[in-house]
Amino acid sequence: MLLKTYWGGFLHNSCLPLELTLNLCSHRCAYCFANLNSPNRKVEDEDLDATLNLLQDFRNRNSYEAWLLQQGYGVVFSNKTDPFAVSNERADLSLRLIELMQLQGIPIAFQTKGGRKAMAALKMLDRQSVWYISLATLDEDIVRRVEPGAPSIEERFEFIASLKAAGQEVVVGINPVVPDWLSDPQALCDRLARLGVSGAWVQSMHLSHRQVENMKPREMEALGERVIHQAMHPDLHPEVAKCVDLTRAAVVASGMEVYSNQQREASHFFAPWKSLYPKRFPQMQDFVNYCHANKQDGDLIHWPEFRDFFVPQLPQGDRGLRDHLNASVAVGVLNGKWIPQRMTYEGLLKWIWQIKEIPFCPANTECFAIAADKIPGTESDWEVWTDEDDLPFLVFCPNGSDGSAFVQWNP
Ligand code: SF4
Repeated sequence: MLLKTYWGGFLHNSCLPLELTLNLCSHRCAYCFANLNSPNRKVEDEDLDATLNLLQDFRNRNSYEAWLLQQGYGVVFSNKTDPFAVSNERADLSLRLIELMQLQGIPIAFQTKGGRKAMAALKMLDRQSVWYISLATLDEDIVRRVEPGAPSIEERFEFIASLKAAGQEVVVGINPVVPDWLSDPQALCDRLARLGVSGAWVQSMHLSHRQVENMKPREMEALGERVIHQAMHPDLHPEVAKCVDLTRAAVVASGMEVYSNQQREASHFFAPWKSLYPKRFPQMQDFVNYCHANKQDGDLIHWPEFRDFFVPQLPQGDRGLRDHLNASVAVGVLNGKWIPQRMTYEGLLKWIWQIKEIPFCPANTECFAIAADKIPGTESDWEVWTDEDDLPFLVFCPNGSDGSAFVQWNP
């Protein structure tokens, strides 16, 4: 099945909770996590048939994906491949899927660098969508080296202009931010802002050991040793965080909304999704914005407030939701706790609230920290405070929590 719940984007970027994945992306970005994670991905005929059948018949199906479509939730196309990469052109694969989704009234949000069929897709649309266009440099030589199958930067600018002329909403990903590739972030941001781009997602590159092991010599050479080391060990390379900060400042100075995963600042980066998709999943950034509007530095946040913010915005009922907690809990045990496969979203949020090893745990967002007491004589051991239900609680730290998930708190 090519259409799946967008498990991994929960609370961080999946405003639309479904994702559609096609062939290995022939844009061949050397840093692409999706290509490195699944280097042999290929659309099989039976998967395509199953997906087309689901899109045609979702109103009569019982799967969670069908239920989400029945409720009016939309599809991200695509998080793991570019719908307009040449590898997805065979038999007009992407255009057929877009045409069918449009016919069925299924909302779509696009993530792309563009491609030969992108304009054809734009002409097919009879409604506004959010388009996320990623780009990481203004230097075309770097693009040819690290993104050899992707459109040039000038072609991406032209496509953004076409999208805006057609009334579409456009945000960008300045992603990945690599100091060697981005000598003048302000020039890039000013140009994007002039084109009418409303916001920019700024994120550095992260590569795991496994992803680097899966790299081909061409990809290693394209990135170079220094960039790979920066991506594997960002803590050893303060120049990366500095470049991210400069780029974020450039985004703001150009008048766009800025977003980075788990940021402490309020932001309206997700406003285009809010204006175009009545049915969508809430984001942690919404809660960050809520706290900036309603709380003071040092205020406490207890589980019921977090729960009552998110649960009314999520589907009700008991479902197989454990996959939201990523592959490491496929066996059901996380941090010594047994996590059931089936649960409600309230149950899922309660795990997320308690276990800071889950990336979506609010304590991993820069403006929240777990209320705790430093154990005397230790460098980094904390005794966590808990409430009457034995749950931890958070402290709002609008200026950041010193990179720790804990903060000293005394009753
Ligand atoms: S365009 Fe996106 S999906 Fe395609 S190779 Fe590049 S990063 Fe991967």
